[in-house]
Amino acid sequence: MQQALAVIVAAGRGERMAAGVPKAFIPLAGVPMFLHSVRTFDAAPSVTAIAVVVPAERVEDTRALLAGHPRATVVAGGERRQDSVRAGLDAMPEFGGVVLVHDAARPLVEVALVEAIVAAAAEAGAAIPVLPVADTIKRVEGGLVKETIDRASLGAAQTPQGFAAALLREAYDAAARDGATLTDEAIAVERTGGAVRAIPGSPENRKLTTPDDLAWAEETLRRRAAR
Ligand code: C5P
Repeated sequence: MQQALAVIVAAGRGERMAAGVPKAFIPLAGVPMFLHSVRTFDAAPSVTAIAVVVPAERVEDTRALLAGHPRATVVAGGERRQDSVRAGLDAMPEFGGVVLVHDAARPLVEVALVEAIVAAAAEAGAAIPVLPVADTIKRVEGGLVKETIDRASLGAAQTPQGFAAALLREAYDAAARDGATLTDEAIAVERTGGAVRAIPGSPENRKLTTPDDLAWAEETLRRRAAR
């Protein structure tokens, strides 16, 4: 079976959902949000090591919390998301398999999607989950609709995103050289001309951004537990 390393980024300072607590540390079903992702990646058969990237002042606490997860390494993140990903990659040993990067803000990711991304990335070099776009998308400037974009060809990108390890390192090195801003990992590969395979994402693998999202996630986890 293909082996994979996972970087889970949880170092964002986004504090819109709960005062004083970074989003990834908000309790969800009784544990910090990021722990759900750690458990899922720990349960994924292909994943052999996990870097959990957290704000510097939370490294010690997180290490204590993850004492029961011997495959997890905790490291401090950086200013931008891409700096946190880099810190996670740098904490990993030299490796020839697949590297996965996942946002802790998507705590409902499931093992089946992790494994599907690992298999697709091993075959294609790079793979991401995407969901079809339900709304009609307009390009708007200055309060005026400038264009309607054909939604048949659009997809909303999720994580985990998976890459052949060397490909991701080269793409990240190129982005750093060029001073590029990255909102996900696939864009680093795209901008160097590399192909990225899109596979079906999961509607439940939502990025939690509002208090309503949190309530939905609690309910969905309750439903899963009752299955
Ligand atoms: O802010 P955004 O929603 O894009 O964050 C996506 C993920 O990246 C979150 O899980 C967040 O914790 C992480 N992140 C990070 N380091 C940053 C910014 C965001 O690890 N500097």
